[in-house]
Amino acid sequence: MRMSQAFMPTLRENPADAEIPSHQLMVRAGLIRKVAPGIYNLLPFGLRAVRKVEAIVREEMDRKGGQECLMPLLLPAEPWIQTGRWGDYGDEMFRLKDRHQRQFCLAPTHEEVITQIARDDVTSYRQLPQLLYHIGNKYRDEIRPRFGVMRGREFIMKDLYSFDVDPEGLAVSYDKMYDAYARIFTRCGLEFRVVEADPGAIGGSGTHEFTVLAEHGESEIVYCDACGFAANVEKAEAVAPEASKEQELPMGKVATPGVHTIQELVGCLGVPVEKTAKILFYWAVYHDGREEMVAAMVLGHRELNEIKMKNLTGAMHVTMAPAEDVTRVTGAPPGSAGPVGLQNARVMVDREIAVTRNMVTGANDDGYHLTGVNFSRDFSGEVSDLRYVREGDICPRCRQVLRGGRGIEVGQLFKLWTKYSESLGCLFTDESGQQHPMVMGCYGIGITRTVAAVIEQCHDENGIMWPVSVAPYHATVVCVNSADEVQASLASSVYEELGRLGVEAVLDDREERAGVKFKDADLLGFPFRINVGKKAPQGVVEVVERRSGQVWEHGATEAAQYVAQRVKEALSQG
Ligand code: ATP
Ligand code: MG
Repeated sequence: MRMSQAFMPTLRENPADAEIPSHQLMVRAGLIRKVAPGIYNLLPFGLRAVRKVEAIVREEMDRKGGQECLMPLLLPAEPWIQTGRWGDYGDEMFRLKDRHQRQFCLAPTHEEVITQIARDDVTSYRQLPQLLYHIGNKYRDEIRPRFGVMRGREFIMKDLYSFDVDPEGLAVSYDKMYDAYARIFTRCGLEFRVVEADPGAIGGSGTHEFTVLAEHGESEIVYCDACGFAANVEKAEAVAPEASKEQELPMGKVATPGVHTIQELVGCLGVPVEKTAKILFYWAVYHDGREEMVAAMVLGHRELNEIKMKNLTGAMHVTMAPAEDVTRVTGAPPGSAGPVGLQNARVMVDREIAVTRNMVTGANDDGYHLTGVNFSRDFSGEVSDLRYVREGDICPRCRQVLRGGRGIEVGQLFKLWTKYSESLGCLFTDESGQQHPMVMGCYGIGITRTVAAVIEQCHDENGIMWPVSVAPYHATVVCVNSADEVQASLASSVYEELGRLGVEAVLDDREERAGVKFKDADLLGFPFRINVGKKAPQGVVEVVERRSGQVWEHGATEAAQYVAQRVKEALSQG
């Protein structure tokens, strides 16, 4: 393609609403343009990168026996009501009505649809396993759409669903996808970790996330360099604490005027923070519509993991209780609330709370705290792992110290078991004629997010540094002075030679200064740039590799052959 005719609207400045490099660069390089928050146009260069990722994903899905189909994005409510997710999805689901007032949604995911496909057309164990996938848009009304296509409200996903006769079959399908995902993200040139994760709204149990390591990633992970353990902090289990041998002291009440935070409490009483306990109040709404106040406790220096807590409650929604509700239930403002004598709340305590002796807690009396508080003797509650695991904590697998980091979740594998096949009646008949629900798994990859993740990992201050595998074009031929006929004609022939050799190239034949062309080439991130300049009369050109900045001089034909060879090598690594 000739740049003089290309639709390639590059910008010199970062857009004001773009906070992270991939978002800034996707806008500046003219890959995307915003339509509304979380909704983007993919412009030609951006779409080419998306198509590259899609092609890699398709190849790897097909290699594992996946078969592609295409499901609609406009979906009727009924199956979602049947699985309970019409309610569970809450505000994240875009809902609409047709002219007959029938309810629909824009697909946030496709378990309901695919399960119906299998239910209607797969009846016998002989037809299983099946691996069906599709690549298409998903719609989620995210609370915080941000970072460009990284967290969009409309985005492209590949989702594959596996149907098996039994858990052993599911394990085989799951392993295939695990392997395919590792190949996909490696081929995309990404550095990633496979982390244990929380299943979230999809449900089921047993799940891994493929997380690309990136400073600006939204996922927080902990990982162990010693044994390879990695987990999302939402999920990471805290090592069970040991029982304390300390003697239980009698309980006492002390005045703590004006103290409402743990820090103030530590300052006021001079107690170690590990001996303080904090209590947080939530409203839990259960599937049967019942509402209940939950009081969750962790030690003063810990953070309550709301996801763990919510999962343990079994509630549909859990939201922080307003201060006035806390005061009504406990008789004191939130900073003075405590577990002793607490009524009308479901008390859930972290395992550390249950084994720490002589804690200081709120007294349910404004301006007072209790000392010498002990679980079991002075209050009770459900004991479980409720706290966040952080860097510096102990690895649950090998007891070494965990490291912390941030990452971008680009893909996730879930074991769904029979959650959807049971609620939607997706059954098969076994050898003896008995019917069973199919055992399912689902496996998603954020295609547009993966493109953003590649840029997040592969860029410098001048622009994108595409890996060859996902680059919109492999190379650009820059005619340094387009007014010079010798240069123009040599540039043109190098460009044509590249095309003959199977290299996807552009020819920068614009009447711009050389500096502008070089800047754009760096911003757009072509893996290779061939400069046709002063030495054109001798038939000599320069090859510049974007990533390393290395420069080689070659004869024009050799330059094209050299780039073609390098591109071929890079692509064959898959
Ligand atoms: P997240 O925790 O980031 O919201 P999720 O767990 O909701 O992700 P899944 O339902 O597992 O995501 O979707 C599969 C993949 O789709 C994710 O791994 C991610 O790559 C991508 N994805 C999910 N939500 C978005 C979004 N809002 N914008 C872009 N990609 C997304
Ligand atoms: Mg989500």
